[in-house]
Amino acid sequence: MQTINRLIALRAATHAIKAADKSLALVPTMGALHAGHLELVKEAQRRADAVAVSIFVNPTQFGPNEDLDAYPRMLEEDAAKLRAAGVDLLWAPPVSEVYPEGFATSIHVAGPSSGYCGGARPGHFDGVALVVTKLFNQVQPDLACFGEKDFQQLAVIRQFVRDLDIDVGIVGVPIVRDADGLALSSRNAYLSSAERKAALALPQALQKARDAIRAGGDVAVILAEAQKAILAAGFANVDYFTLADAQTLAPVLVKGDRPLRLLAAAKIGKTRLIDNLAVE
Ligand code: AMP
Repeated sequence: MQTINRLIALRAATHAIKAADKSLALVPTMGALHAGHLELVKEAQRRADAVAVSIFVNPTQFGPNEDLDAYPRMLEEDAAKLRAAGVDLLWAPPVSEVYPEGFATSIHVAGPSSGYCGGARPGHFDGVALVVTKLFNQVQPDLACFGEKDFQQLAVIRQFVRDLDIDVGIVGVPIVRDADGLALSSRNAYLSSAERKAALALPQALQKARDAIRAGGDVAVILAEAQKAILAAGFANVDYFTLADAQTLAPVLVKGDRPLRLLAAAKIGKTRLIDNLAVE
């Protein structure tokens, strides 16, 4: 595995891959890698001849009071995991390489960015859109893999890739969970052992709500009960717990025949967790 942190070296490496007529997949991450990230790598390996993983804790997607400085950084450990997984190229640029002095461009994505995490974290998805666009231009992959764990992020990425005619195939990968059902997340490392136990209330409420909606119950009542259960388990607040159209993310209160997704975000202690579940 080649580890690269300068754009000029990246260009040479990706040109060599293309010159060898190999397809290239990108897996963008912020590091602190877990089995969820490695599942994206496996999917990328199934779909392309060569796989690049980026590790970049992107400052433009963090709000002023968020955990940018505290976000776990462990490049050596991450690199060892990626090497063991057979990744070809690790792109780990410093902030100055991605946002050099004088950087002045932004991207705003409307539509699926509004509400949910976009409402709770103003500017977050604009930062995601900016960095993913830059990563695509830097690495020039044929396709890129993203987790359904960040379901709204995936919808935003599909939106701007379509809107801006970006020629990169977007692949969504199902959520990888711990054995007890908690979705894997780099932020789970922030949880105390009591919080880790209580955090299970989030996936459990999603499953219960999914079953009740499938059984034809009243959606508004089911969503309210789910929020109550999460708070009763010790969460500090529930940002949202909603049933949405899986494509447009518009809230849905009456089950129709379109694919639906339960979307949730809630804070336990100081840690904000997100999760989601298909209803069908
Ligand atoms: P992050 O490092 O948190 O920015 O995540 C990088 C990529 O990994 C994103 O596409 C996430 O959606 C994906 N990801 C994170 N956690 C999981 C998980 N538990 N299962 C599947 N994909 C995940």
